[in-house]
Amino acid sequence: MTRKTSWYQENIEKARKLAMENYHRRMKNPAYRAERKERKRQYLDRHPTAEHSRYMRYKEDSDKYQELLRRSREWQKRNRSKVAKKERNWRKRNPEKIKQKNSNRRARENEAPGGHTRIQWLSKFQFHGFRCFYCFHSLTEMNVTKEHRIPLSRGGSDFVSNLVPACHSCNSKKLNFRSEFTSRPKTVISNK
Ligand SMILES: [Zn+2]
Repeated sequence: MTRKTSWYQENIEKARKLAMENYHRRMKNPAYRAERKERKRQYLDRHPTAEHSRYMRYKEDSDKYQELLRRSREWQKRNRSKVAKKERNWRKRNPEKIKQKNSNRRARENEAPGGHTRIQWLSKFQFHGFRCFYCFHSLTEMNVTKEHRIPLSRGGSDFVSNLVPACHSCNSKKLNFRSEFTSRPKTVISNK
């Protein structure tokens, strides 16, 4: 009698259990974990978008994606300190992304129309020579502030066209005064 199905197909639950046991046993070995991590890193170097496409494939299958989210939430609940540490490190490495997030939130809170990407903002900043629009003080991405020509609180948009780079002190000057100028006010130019 020939076997129609393989042992694996007939004992799929058992096979899965064995595979998982095997996996957990091997993962207890730090050397194996390190090797695995290194192999993954090499793979991602060769296929830089693999991780993202895997995620997107998951996302297309709603059930699978919900399951992934659920498991991710559960893992996060069990590993709060790991999550917090990961987040701290990310914040340290990406201060400019934090700034963008905060500015997006402020725009949302003011229900401002429009929006912009960090790249759009950077090209605007570059257009103004990486300087304060008002006092020409030289700025970096870390100390520049986004000045909304028409303030969000007065219905201004969050489109990049409504933005100019400004130093902290120019940006914190009286709100109403600025919005009335369509060009650089002479009185504000100093030789800072
Ligand atoms: Zn300034």
